[in-house]
Amino acid sequence: MISAQFDYVRANTLDEALTLLAQNEDAKILAGGHSLIPAMKLRLAQPPLLVDIGRLKDLSYIREEGDQIRIGAMTTHYQIESSDLLKKICPLLPECAGHIGDVQVRNKGTIGGSVAHSDPAGDWPAAIIALNAEMIAASQNGERAIKADDFFVELMTTALEPGEILREVRIAKPAGRTGQAYVKMHHPASGFAVVGVAASLTIDGDGKCQNASIGITGVSSKAYRAATVEAALTGRALDEQALADAASHAADGVDINGDLFASEDYRRHLAEVYTKRAIQAAASRVK
Ligand SMILES: Cc1cc2nc3c(=O)[nH]c(=O)nc-3n(C[C@H](O)[C@H](O)[C@H](O)COP(=O)(O)OP(=O)(O)OC[C@H]3O[C@@H](n4cnc5c(N)ncnc54)[C@H](O)[C@@H]3O)c2cc1C
Repeated sequence: MISAQFDYVRANTLDEALTLLAQNEDAKILAGGHSLIPAMKLRLAQPPLLVDIGRLKDLSYIREEGDQIRIGAMTTHYQIESSDLLKKICPLLPECAGHIGDVQVRNKGTIGGSVAHSDPAGDWPAAIIALNAEMIAASQNGERAIKADDFFVELMTTALEPGEILREVRIAKPAGRTGQAYVKMHHPASGFAVVGVAASLTIDGDGKCQNASIGITGVSSKAYRAATVEAALTGRALDEQALADAASHAADGVDINGDLFASEDYRRHLAEVYTKRAIQAAASRVK
């Protein structure tokens, strides 16, 4: 299909983009365009104005600052997938990026666009939750930080307010003996997550789980923290029984999606299986 008519402005600075958003209530930011343009072609979105931030190179970076990793919103999935720095200090991020779409999608799509879009089957939200990331939102009134647990509000709805642009994602550098993993069942047609599970574990000197952080996508209308799984792992040695017990809580308390590809029961089963796999993989990588 062809999209409805719209106006288009390319912003040359973040300030210019913020001004345009403030002046045009229904305008939409255009980043990589790999979710917004398909939605416009299907007429699921009909913004009267697109504010293109695609040329804002100063929103495209990966850097260490103190005990944080800072990633600009316009950083592409491929830049993250191929970052040697991230492979060393936070391998969950490149691993997750490598699961997204195909090479074309990863070269154009951005972490900011993906997080702001909050697709229920998108990969980044699971990792963002497991890493307890903070989203830095900019507007004409200044900036504010939004915690991952507060960011994903509902189906394709985030805590970003009208007039705000996601500028940066911040993640605390993993400390202690930590292992991370992202595992995913790819939808055979779209490549999106039927189920995707991100796990970050810290192990204490006795080999027990000191801290577990688990984010799950694909299962419900938004990505969520598997808090019961985390509680079941904390303080335990990660043997087969502990993993099975914990993973059995993967879909506790969530409304599970059912569709032509995966029924509600099948998705619950997949959530448990993939949660166990993610914990196993993360535990095997603890350094
Ligand atoms: C064939 C195909 C396969 C795909 N497979 C996968 C997959 O397996 N896993 C997966 O997770 N994704 C997948 N995607 C989606 C892809 O990752 C998109 O790139 C991503 O979801 C959106 O990023 P974008 O930069 O393209 O954003 P856009 O499409 O430009 O924008 C998406 C939405 O976010 C808003 N937005 C963008 N940037 C910002 C910002 N900085 N601040 C505030 N709002 C902003 C836009 O206004 C829009 O509403 C696929 C896409 C395609 C076309």
